[in-house]
Amino acid sequence: MPPDRFFINSSSAYRMACAAIFIATAIRGGDAVEFKEYNLTLTLPPIENATTQINPTEDCRQVWEGSMGGSRIKITFLAFPMSKFHLINPDDALTFVVDNQVKLDPALKLLKRETVIGPYGSVAHAGFLHATMKRNAPSGIVDSGYMALCGAAINDAYAVEVFSTPPADAGTSATIANFLKKGIVYNGKVYDLKWTDQEALDRWKRDVPPEVKGAPEIRRTKHYIIFTNSSSGELFAKKMEECYDTIQKIYPFPETPPRRLMPVFLFRTSDQYNLYYSKIAGVSVEAASKSKGHAWRDYYATSYDAPNDPVHIHEATHQIFMNRLWLSGGGSWFQEGVAEFVTTKHNDRNDASRMVKKHQSPPLPEFVKIQSLLYSPSDAKREGDTGAARYKEAALLIEFFHEAPALKAKFPQFLAAIGKLLPNDADAIDAAFKTLYNTSIAEMDAAYLKYCESRN
Ligand SMILES: [Zn+2]
Repeated sequence: MPPDRFFINSSSAYRMACAAIFIATAIRGGDAVEFKEYNLTLTLPPIENATTQINPTEDCRQVWEGSMGGSRIKITFLAFPMSKFHLINPDDALTFVVDNQVKLDPALKLLKRETVIGPYGSVAHAGFLHATMKRNAPSGIVDSGYMALCGAAINDAYAVEVFSTPPADAGTSATIANFLKKGIVYNGKVYDLKWTDQEALDRWKRDVPPEVKGAPEIRRTKHYIIFTNSSSGELFAKKMEECYDTIQKIYPFPETPPRRLMPVFLFRTSDQYNLYYSKIAGVSVEAASKSKGHAWRDYYATSYDAPNDPVHIHEATHQIFMNRLWLSGGGSWFQEGVAEFVTTKHNDRNDASRMVKKHQSPPLPEFVKIQSLLYSPSDAKREGDTGAARYKEAALLIEFFHEAPALKAKFPQFLAAIGKLLPNDADAIDAAFKTLYNTSIAEMDAAYLKYCESRN
């Protein structure tokens, strides 16, 4: 089974070094600032007593500070190469920026995350986020508000962040959100959503080790671009679209805003797949050979086996949740749960149900905190405690939210709410259960036990 990415691994090289010289400026609402190298124009909100940073650093192009509606406001404009940080789309960039922010301010709590449609960049959408945090200020730890919007400008991702201390009131928050959603306009080249042949070949050349000989065949379907040196490309392409349809049926989602086709690498042999995985993830070929396929970053890679191998739909689910629905949070229980629920049938989850009934499965408040179900230390009391067994328990938990009479009507809201949470945040999951079902996580655990007891 593959390692899955829930969050982008951020590079330690990334620093938002924004300490610099500031000059005083008056910013009236409606002042436009152009960043020609990114083809972007920002129309600023009104800021009192504003200062502007004048000497940009590598990532941080400009900073404005001042006050608005009783809060101290800081706006930063960051830009960074997509490829340097393995970012593919605006939502990846948002996850990356927030991940970095969480390292600085571990108390960051997400209030809202959404994808907004508009002329934000080389794809016509952006990631928007609203959170609260505790910032380390010269005066000590201060409660603050945080909003950010991330877009793509061909080779670069950009982020506009707004910090407010104390957290902006409702009126000021609305002004800031309006600035981020309406005040950022891109006027440059847009991506070819189907990829050009040259882009496809460049991608193959960049990521596939030279030992894998020959140019790939490029196959495009409605949702995927498939790079393959296997003669089974046509059948496999059909299979991937079938997987997509099945996943969309189980987790009903509308077609997402226009996006680039999702890349899939299909290798002729498992040896070639292992070489690819070893190169791109920097793991040994032996470690790579333990998996049959993996979804990571924007792609799914595998070698040709039986088209009905469950690995394809399991990984396709990860890829869709991560790159199409932007629901990459919640934690291992949620990500593996949704992937394994699609892969398994009701009876495949019977053993997991027995584990819950015998109290041999961790109670929910603990289960949701496990960082990796695959690699978690095994519990000596449990027999046959393997990653596979834990995956089934995660699938059973998704079954519970999908099928329990009191919960099933809100299944889409459950997916949307949990998938946007930071991973393994039991308090946030508890709060989400209370909002959605008026039930705490401890009460949900009791309901889950009851569900398993009455389950056939
Ligand atoms: Zn998985």
